[in-house]
Amino acid sequence: MATGSAVPVPASHLDAARDADPATRAANAAMAAKLPFADTRDFEAARRGLIAPVPDGIVRTDKGTVLWNLGEYAFIDGDLAPATVNPSLWRMARLNMANGLFKVAERVYQLRGFDISNMTVLEGDTGLILIDPLTTAEVARAALALYRAHRPDRPVVAVIYTHSHIDHYGGVRGVIDEADVKAGRVKVIAPAGFMEAISGENVLAGLPMSRRAQFQFGTLLPRGPRGQVDAGLGKSVARGTPGLIAPTMSIVQPIETHTIDGLEIVFQLAPETEAPAEMHMFYPGLGVLNMAENACPLLHNFIPLRGAVARDPRIWSKYLADAIALYAPHTDVLIGQHHWPTWGRAAVIDHLEAQRDLYKHIHDQTLRHMNKGWRPAEIAEVVALPPGLAERWSVRGYYGSVSHNVKAVYQRYLSWYDGNPCNLHALPPAPAAAKFVEYMGGAAAVIARARTDFAKGEFRWVAQVMKEVVYAEPDNIEARALCADALEQMGYQAESATWRNAFLYGAQELRHGVVKMPARGILSADTLAGLSSDILFDMMAVRLDPEKAAGQAMVINWQFTDRGEKLSLTLKHCTLSHRPGEWSDRAAATIVTTRTTLDEVILGRLKLPDALASGAVRIEGDAARLAALFAMFDQPPAMMFDVLLPGEGR
Ligand SMILES: [Zn+2]
Repeated sequence: MATGSAVPVPASHLDAARDADPATRAANAAMAAKLPFADTRDFEAARRGLIAPVPDGIVRTDKGTVLWNLGEYAFIDGDLAPATVNPSLWRMARLNMANGLFKVAERVYQLRGFDISNMTVLEGDTGLILIDPLTTAEVARAALALYRAHRPDRPVVAVIYTHSHIDHYGGVRGVIDEADVKAGRVKVIAPAGFMEAISGENVLAGLPMSRRAQFQFGTLLPRGPRGQVDAGLGKSVARGTPGLIAPTMSIVQPIETHTIDGLEIVFQLAPETEAPAEMHMFYPGLGVLNMAENACPLLHNFIPLRGAVARDPRIWSKYLADAIALYAPHTDVLIGQHHWPTWGRAAVIDHLEAQRDLYKHIHDQTLRHMNKGWRPAEIAEVVALPPGLAERWSVRGYYGSVSHNVKAVYQRYLSWYDGNPCNLHALPPAPAAAKFVEYMGGAAAVIARARTDFAKGEFRWVAQVMKEVVYAEPDNIEARALCADALEQMGYQAESATWRNAFLYGAQELRHGVVKMPARGILSADTLAGLSSDILFDMMAVRLDPEKAAGQAMVINWQFTDRGEKLSLTLKHCTLSHRPGEWSDRAAATIVTTRTTLDEVILGRLKLPDALASGAVRIEGDAARLAALFAMFDQPPAMMFDVLLPGEGR
């Protein structure tokens, strides 16, 4: 229920984004004075080896729909940041405009600026080894076409996924055919636990993650000096068709060396770092080290704003230290699957040591303060990068931030609970907000005082207190407008692209309401097919509505003939549980079908009655049980739930 769109907003409050306030100008000017803008080596590195840019800066579908358009960013021009953009972020937004086909070293090429991520091409003895085929088939195909326009036309013999995030595998169907994979002509290589990680990160909580990702990436913000300027890791996430072809070969040992099409590749597993399943690669014959997404020239996330299980910065730092010891002494160029390379052995070691200490420092200092009893927001206020790190461009928080990474460390070790029992059973946001506003003398009194603080530039507090008024009175347009104005100034000041996007998109939703978007499944057919039946039944279980299941109990045996699998499913206590590989002798019904058929039903492409009528699903025993079970599930929920307003849960 998107209440945000239901409330009429007076035209006077629908103005386009406002200009930077004096406090924002002062904050951005202070940032500009503090950082070493005269150091332009990154701009040279980002341009080095350019063969050809992305043609017209555009990728279209066959029908002409524009999926990727660097032209939207034409306003990012010149080294003087507008007052509405943090100057450090502006610099990264300029660097991320570098795009096209780049030669990195003999036999190593990169396609950058077709998407948020890079596709790396290794030239084997007979064909191509592609690393991380971007997010969607269309942009991956366009990237490979640019490579082939400038290099010999040779077949793809292997695809390597460095880790389990969609911008590193989703475009695979644009560069290889699954038939070639099945026939053994193309290898697909991934780190151990790759498929499990995709299931774990994106399936059970995928829907709220997608909604929250709109804030992280600013996908629905206009591009411009008062809108989205960058995503930190790259300009933005490409649109188009994501898919997945499951790996045919997993790297399982901590270090494995393989020769792929004549190229020696040393794989270093780095699990539980930036992704649950991730690996680095060293190419000894080429002197090139590929750190995947673990040593980008910025501070990454311990938990991204979209939400994720807290990552482990201690382990992350350790794997960086291992790479320094094992590979850096033999490395001439360091590449990653985002951003530009680092050239020269000394620079590579320097960069990796900074990254190693960046993650360890935030981890250690958070623990140090936790051990004194400090709370998350208190620690986030004081932990800062030490001298020697703070003034380096390559560790600044364009994607993560020290502040929210500190909170992620706290969460990893001590959970959401700060230990104060007053916070243990607090009222939920909306009723608490109603009480706060009542105690503070009513909305008008709070707004009047907040306006005074706004004029003083206290935007953090104004957003915080206006959230209470908005939650107490979602229809209070004045409160929403003031809250939006405060968030907007915070966005203009933010160095982190993800913070900027979140603040500005929050302001946009407060002013204009939630965009109506059709409900859609967030899982592609490829991802669903790649799920084990175990996780698929977990996914069904989280859709069970206990009110509809009240008073019912049943056991159903399942057989999936295409996978040779069986499973028993038990409904008891309004809860579904299942046992893979087992049948129960107490089952009321046995269902014989294929996983493909069940996937089609879950995707909504096949109606259950039709599947029964055609015989695609056969039921032995009590035929009514399956329909009864399916009637207990929630309909796939609409993704555009309220975030800035109390919404359904109030
Ligand atoms: Zn990525």
